[in-house]
Amino acid sequence: MIDWASDYLRNVGDLPVLPDLDPGSISQQLPGRPPEEGEGMDRIWEDFERLILPGVTHWNHPKFFAYFVTSASGPGILGDLLGAVLNVNAMLWRTCPASTELESTTLDWLREMLGLPPSFWGMICEGASLSTVQALAAARDDLRPLKTRERGLAGRAEIPRLRLYTSELGHSSIDKAALLLGLGEDSVRRIEVDREFRLVPEQLQRAIEEDRANGWLPFCVVANVGTTSVASVDPVEAIADICDQEDLWLHVDAAYGGSAAIVPELGWVLQGADRADSLVVNPHKWLFVPLELSVLYVRDKRTLARSFSLVPDYLTSDVSGVENYMEYGVTLGRRFRALKLWFVIRYFGRSGLAHLIEKHVRLARVFAGWVEQDPDFELVAPVHLSTVCFGLREDRSDESNLNLLESLNRSGKVFLSHTRINGRLILRLAVGGMRTDLDDVRFAWDLIKEKKAELRSRT
Ligand SMILES: *Cc1c(COP(=O)(O)O)cnc(C)c1O
Repeated sequence: MIDWASDYLRNVGDLPVLPDLDPGSISQQLPGRPPEEGEGMDRIWEDFERLILPGVTHWNHPKFFAYFVTSASGPGILGDLLGAVLNVNAMLWRTCPASTELESTTLDWLREMLGLPPSFWGMICEGASLSTVQALAAARDDLRPLKTRERGLAGRAEIPRLRLYTSELGHSSIDKAALLLGLGEDSVRRIEVDREFRLVPEQLQRAIEEDRANGWLPFCVVANVGTTSVASVDPVEAIADICDQEDLWLHVDAAYGGSAAIVPELGWVLQGADRADSLVVNPHKWLFVPLELSVLYVRDKRTLARSFSLVPDYLTSDVSGVENYMEYGVTLGRRFRALKLWFVIRYFGRSGLAHLIEKHVRLARVFAGWVEQDPDFELVAPVHLSTVCFGLREDRSDESNLNLLESLNRSGKVFLSHTRINGRLILRLAVGGMRTDLDDVRFAWDLIKEKKAELRSRT
């Protein structure tokens, strides 16, 4: 299987990036009931190749340009494999000292590479959604006099409704966290963005004042470093000023954009983030570590413990002066995820990682240049990182842009996705694959022009 994996990664570019099949066609071929007797690995493998592989969307494909690309590096895959082999449960230091200590060390390394202050303390979570739930729980429970941990929120007439703020382009995981934390959808107030899709601090200030006047209790702001739609970067420094002045928790969602700070010229993306109370960055998104591995940093780990520390009798441990990660988050059982991050950082080194990220940003700029120079297309957002938002210049209808996108993706040769900006459906090319080079981006652009010409001749 290791040999197969190595061939797969070498040749993944020859496969169709998107499978061409009808919904249900895989489950139809699988037996409805589990086998009574065990089956040989050879038969299972045969079915993997015959039934499963044709139904796989190849995220490692060099022409995968959709969403935010998550691609797995060889060292990351091997680290993940060893983590599965050891199968430790890293809930306590005692239940696997190596996992706990490696997690602390690798997250200190990552923090340093990102230029964040040494006071930041990190933990690995499954994904940014969970990191953000934990951060916002800590923010809520940091309203100390309310005693939310002990008494909850329901049925307490003395507590005003809580409000948190993010930009119009903040990720849906922020709303989901509000749902889960018992704050409700209405607790998330979306603040206007400027022409470059960055939160407008003056509007934030105004919203906070208005809310206070109307009886809300503002408690948190989520600043975005790399919004999901257009990869815009909020003015974190100015937002941090407001948070200081208004005594609000600052959470920075840098799930995608944070990794860019490894490149010295892109360090500006995290400017002001040193003043955050919490920050999330996803090495599984743009740091070549296989899913799932998100990192939550907090300025004071006691804030997380205040929300999540709960040690039943059977988990007490007599070792002192060590980290017991289960006390800082939702999940008890934890995989040995630090191993794959360690492999990746050691194998590439800071400069190797910076080189890959820099290349992606450069490729995105080259692509954006082609778009700008073409009379048929236009850029819809500035390109600061590795994501390009563009659309048809003349025919701006959703239908035409969608037709173009579908004809590209139906080809099986590239995979792009869409988003909606100011009500308009547009195409989005995200560069971020380990194995993506200039040839691949050039190919995508040529195919886009070809499909555009085909659609024109059809109408
Ligand atoms: C991808 C992304 C998330 C969600 O990350 P998961 O790890 O999938 O939960 C949150 N915020 C931003 C800005 C993202 O790009």
